[in-house]
Amino acid sequence: METGVYIVGTPIGNLEDITARALRTLREANVIMAEDTRHTGILLARYEIRTPMVSCHKFNEARRFERIQSEFAQGRSIALVTDAGMPGISDPGARTVRMCREAGIPVWVIPGPCAASAAVSLSGMGDAGYHFEGFLPHKSGGRRRRLEELSHEPVPVVFYESPYRLIKLMNEIEQFVGPRQIFVGRELTKKFEEGISGTPAEIRASFEKRTVKGELVVIMAPA
Ligand code: SAM
Repeated sequence: METGVYIVGTPIGNLEDITARALRTLREANVIMAEDTRHTGILLARYEIRTPMVSCHKFNEARRFERIQSEFAQGRSIALVTDAGMPGISDPGARTVRMCREAGIPVWVIPGPCAASAAVSLSGMGDAGYHFEGFLPHKSGGRRRRLEELSHEPVPVVFYESPYRLIKLMNEIEQFVGPRQIFVGRELTKKFEEGISGTPAEIRASFEKRTVKGELVVIMAPA
């Protein structure tokens, strides 16, 4: 392996969703920087990979760059992973990539699953492009402002959302955006994977008799 940083995509649920190149990179790297070493430990154990890990999350990402510089100076290779999907997509990693580029440290990508693109494919709404929004702000005022801006998007808008806020988001879309078709991709690639399409009221109705659980991607169709 050439010395530098490898941005490695990892599964978003199903541990079989990992490329041969990702596994080889994780096996051959000198060190793996992981958002949560316990979480990534499950993946490494499954594939009998014994590469040492150190944590690299949003609270120590800037400090961890010193470690990357020192590993690079010794001619070593570093793999960077997050808990799920692609690093730097609503996840730590983007800052590391920017700092590496500024410092002249080579960065490579080993593409893998991403919840947003998986949901767009499953929704059948992505043939004319889409806007990836990720997480909305938590505070009501900020959410309202952003949703009003996004109501003008001419393409579907992709959100990451917590199960605790799905019903709130359906109410907010009705109130601040107007009538829209929605797709919810839940627990993608996992045992209880589900794709639900409908108006915000229909999405709410489908969760009337059960608690909203698991991980969700919400896609809002254009007007
Ligand atoms: N970097 C990741 C990626 O490439 O998709 C996203 C990380 S972000 C912190 C986590 C969010 O992604 C979750 O809150 C959820 O909205 C979405 N997500 C991750 N895995 C998912 C899955 N299996 N099914 C549906 N949504 C998922």
